[in-house]
Amino acid sequence: MKVYNTLTRKKEEFNPLEDGKVKMYVCGPTVYDNIHIGNTRPMIVFDLFRRYLEYKGYEVTFVQNYTDIDDKIIERANSLGITTKELTAKCIQEVEGDMKALGIEDATYKPKATEQIDNMLSMIDSLIEKGHAYEKDGTVFFDTSSFKEYGKLSKKNIEDLEAGARISVDESKRSPMDFVLWKPKKEGEPFWVSKYSEGRPGWHLECSVMAKAYLGESIDIHCGGTDLVFPHHENEIAQSECANGKQFAKYWMHNGLINVDNKKMSKSKGNFFTLDDIVKEFSHEEVRFFIISAHYRSPINFSKESMLASRNALNRIKNGYSTLDFYIKNNEHKAGSADLSEIDNYKRKFIESMDDDFNTADAISVIFEIIKTTNVLVKENGRLELANGYLELLKELTTLMGINVIENELKDAEILELIELRNKARKEKDYQKADEIRERLKSKNILIEDTRDGVKYKRM
Ligand SMILES: [Zn+2]
Repeated sequence: MKVYNTLTRKKEEFNPLEDGKVKMYVCGPTVYDNIHIGNTRPMIVFDLFRRYLEYKGYEVTFVQNYTDIDDKIIERANSLGITTKELTAKCIQEVEGDMKALGIEDATYKPKATEQIDNMLSMIDSLIEKGHAYEKDGTVFFDTSSFKEYGKLSKKNIEDLEAGARISVDESKRSPMDFVLWKPKKEGEPFWVSKYSEGRPGWHLECSVMAKAYLGESIDIHCGGTDLVFPHHENEIAQSECANGKQFAKYWMHNGLINVDNKKMSKSKGNFFTLDDIVKEFSHEEVRFFIISAHYRSPINFSKESMLASRNALNRIKNGYSTLDFYIKNNEHKAGSADLSEIDNYKRKFIESMDDDFNTADAISVIFEIIKTTNVLVKENGRLELANGYLELLKELTTLMGINVIENELKDAEILELIELRNKARKEKDYQKADEIRERLKSKNILIEDTRDGVKYKRM
């Protein structure tokens, strides 16, 4: 299995630190508002990566934090007239509801920054002790010049960075590249007591501390969006490696960003979409499918057209599965045994795609190849053994990808039940009720057709 490592800019063979076990950390959301489409990408892709590692037999410990103290949180809580704690509790509850709806499994640990203040202060103490940090008027800064490897993840050269940096507004910093580990409170802000000042931690510090608390000093995979490579992840490396004296993460994986209508998403451009906006028109599953249809490192473009294309593609998979399932249960099949090796070939192809730096785009095209094959199999009255084998494989692969074909089965039963009710209403000349049922099905994108052979339906 190969993964692309941002640290080396190469696809590398994946070998975890400990055989059979994987320790993963993903930077979670800052909880002050509803999540937007951009937030969903790292959540969905790294959840899927975790599922795939588990599918391959690894025991995965997966940590995703919540940043629950930050300027934006304080600002929003003030504007709503509630405490930051009230705001973040409400936002976390909403995010967890969204994640569940998107088919994302619960992380092994979901620490909150504010619950780790003591550990953060210990890391600050140890960085000062080792000469990697300094205090000035209640603020503690990380001394970037003390870490020779600073810039190794983002491939930035510290001298260039310093030359390019504007003259620091903050005169107390030794270098414009130094960053805050602890800062004193401003009037009215929440704070924690420390020997440096009454204040709060810098954002970068929390991930170093939470990764260490739940996964240890060295982890296998650290992931997040490409927008976090610099400075956030660069600073995490500096803190962790200076405090612990060990390599922090062996593999750094970053997902590409989402553009909206081919432009960078921003509130001011008016092309900003929260997940809540999107699910008024599309299902969570369609959002998930849209995200995983692309390779995780490629930028993707969100638009109504691309979402409609995802809907169609997803329906093709679901319909293919239902057709095959219906064929198995309701038709005559060719007798005799079948050569099942072609099923293994598809499975191998799927795994090869996922093993190649987690290429979900290629893996999904293998699912489409299977659907194409099974559609032909049904048309040609193929052998039952073969049909069953494909059905099992489709179930396995779609479950792994978080596509709910099984739910579709239930829905079909519901449709048949509604059609039965409609038939009964028509028999009793209750045409109003019959029409209501037809409309109800239509609202769920099911089109029914009265034919000589009875009522038929199809998905739109
Ligand atoms: Zn982080």
